[in-house]
Amino acid sequence: MEHNDIERLDRISAHLHALLHNEQPGLLDLTGHKEDEIRQVGQFVNSLSEALSALTNAAHLLSIGDMDVQIVAKLPACHHLKNLQATLRHLTWQTGQIAKGDFSQRVEFLGEFSYSFNWMVEQLDAYRQRILGQNRELERLATTDPLTGVYNRRYFMDFATKEFLRSQRYSHVFSAIQMDIDHFKKINDTHGHAVGDEVIKAFTVMCQEVLRESDMLGRVGGEEFSIILPETDRAGALIVAERIRRAIADLKVYADDHVVRFTVSIGLTSLRQDDAGIEAVLRRADEALYLAKNGGRNKVLSG
Ligand code: GH3
Ligand code: MG
Ligand code: MG
Repeated sequence: MEHNDIERLDRISAHLHALLHNEQPGLLDLTGHKEDEIRQVGQFVNSLSEALSALTNAAHLLSIGDMDVQIVAKLPACHHLKNLQATLRHLTWQTGQIAKGDFSQRVEFLGEFSYSFNWMVEQLDAYRQRILGQNRELERLATTDPLTGVYNRRYFMDFATKEFLRSQRYSHVFSAIQMDIDHFKKINDTHGHAVGDEVIKAFTVMCQEVLRESDMLGRVGGEEFSIILPETDRAGALIVAERIRRAIADLKVYADDHVVRFTVSIGLTSLRQDDAGIEAVLRRADEALYLAKNGGRNKVLSG
């Protein structure tokens, strides 16, 4: 081998070494030696050098999160880098979808990462389901009465207030019913508190059988209950109340070897144009209930 050839090979070797170690190799100048071959080798190494530095630059930008980097070099490795770029873009989009609440997203093409990511999404979904369930349970506990399961006073008052405002705005009618079980103290005293509880439960079950889905029954006191009947006038409310009164008078509650019969007094009214608020409507129904009690109980009166 001639001295020039050895020198040329040394320079090519140093150039490739620089490329491999990510140093800037500069242009490979091999002119003056077996010109055509040398020029071709020089051009090849130079274009390889440019492609490698473009690839290195793109890989660097991608590695620091620039997902819009243009990968233009013509090397087989670029194809893989573009695939990785597309995968990262898709993963970014999927993460956004999950943040918006789409927990059906799964990653399929990132090996061990896919496994961990999908597991994380499943866990997030499970937590969310658990929290939603707990929220539903908390809402149920906050709005219903534990003994009977019917709505409590607070929820009933919220509903009644909304019904008042809605009916007033659209000039619709609604009715309110107030009920109080007759001589309930005597039931407790005669049969015990537990039997009294069974009587209260049986009372609400019977009321719900008579009422429609859209009617709202609430336990507003110990043995005091209220009903809102949307879109129902006084005549309609009288029919419903009378049905309840009769059903209760006919009811036999079997509890703890006792058969308990009891009655209920009922007062009702309907929305009037000059009612200032739901309190005025309920007060009128209460006054009718008071009259029903004084008039001998087991009665329906309207005010
Ligand atoms: P009236 O016909 O005038 O309504 O007579 P009453 O005996 O029903 O009168 P009052 O409303 O004063 O009595 C209600 C009783 O209901 C008093 C209370 O001890 C009882 N009570 C309240 N809540 C419960 C409950 O959850 N279970 C039971 N067993 N009794 C209750
Ligand atoms: Mg009472
Ligand atoms: Mg009573």
